[in-house]
Amino acid sequence: MPVVSIEHLHVHYGPIHAVRGISLEIPQGEVYGFIGPNGAGKSTTIKVLATLLPNFTGTARINGIDVAANPRAIREQIGYMPDFFGVYEDLNVREYLHFFAAAYRIPRKQRKTVVGNVLELTDLTHKISDQVDSLSRGMKQRLALARVLLHDPQLLLLDEPASGLDPRARIEVRELLKALTEMGKTILISSHILHELAHLCTRVGIIEAGQMVAQGSLEDIYRQLQLMRIVHVRLVGADEAVLEKIREIEGVENVEQQVDRIAIRLRDNPAAVETLHESLCSLGVRIHMFQPEAMDMETAFMKLTEGKTA
Ligand code: ATP
Repeated sequence: MPVVSIEHLHVHYGPIHAVRGISLEIPQGEVYGFIGPNGAGKSTTIKVLATLLPNFTGTARINGIDVAANPRAIREQIGYMPDFFGVYEDLNVREYLHFFAAAYRIPRKQRKTVVGNVLELTDLTHKISDQVDSLSRGMKQRLALARVLLHDPQLLLLDEPASGLDPRARIEVRELLKALTEMGKTILISSHILHELAHLCTRVGIIEAGQMVAQGSLEDIYRQLQLMRIVHVRLVGADEAVLEKIREIEGVENVEQQVDRIAIRLRDNPAAVETLHESLCSLGVRIHMFQPEAMDMETAFMKLTEGKTA
């Protein structure tokens, strides 16, 4: 049974049709990246799963439990991190986490241990006596994650956990998410930045104007779109004759001499990169660098969404 199962979800806010027939499934242990521009309907879909939007049509289930019919049972199984961290004045980190541990009805005797564990996991132990307000944005995000881990939920619903973070804080959040997947959590994570999720997610769903425009592994999406791949190479003593030979290699679409490298554009084919490498070796040239470009997901996104907005 999938952990998350959504079928034909529709959500209206008055006249606004924010979610228009979204269906998705997330099996246990997967990290599902929900990607789309502002206003696409990501937060709305996540809020439905978090039992915060009762007025929707279609079905939403978590571990087979109907979200609309059993919100209480659902809340025990999920950790929801909203896109905005609420304001908590005059609370330090210890008080903040103990407050939520009480709200999650964790027995009083266990709270200290539980709070200690989540602080350790999020690397905030040294901040336990600091005011929540005084934390940096990255630390606040980690604290928000610590909070949703208190009751050890199986499913994490994380709405833009890395937004507004500097590169270091972003990497820290990414590392933390990796640790959580290793613990066997199932994660739904949203972002409007594709490459932020590319290395983390086992599957992605691209949503635009309330509709799912593509779904699958990054490889699947890449293949669906038949995007070109680019391989950057540096060859010792490459001259025009060598470039000409490269152009003749099967699967090569074009070859461009750049300042310090040659950019080789390949037609889509799962083995194209390996074939290119073998062919270059058989040409007898010495390879100083061979670097397939990371998937060009920004192009994929533009191609998929065509700039529609809700
Ligand atoms: P973002 O990246 O900006 O958070 P999103 O993909 O999460 O975007 P949603 O917040 O789900 O998008 O918004 C989807 C649509 O619903 C938008 O057009 C938004 O303006 C509208 N919307 C969201 N919340 C409300 C609300 N409470 N009342 C009215 N309209 C809303």
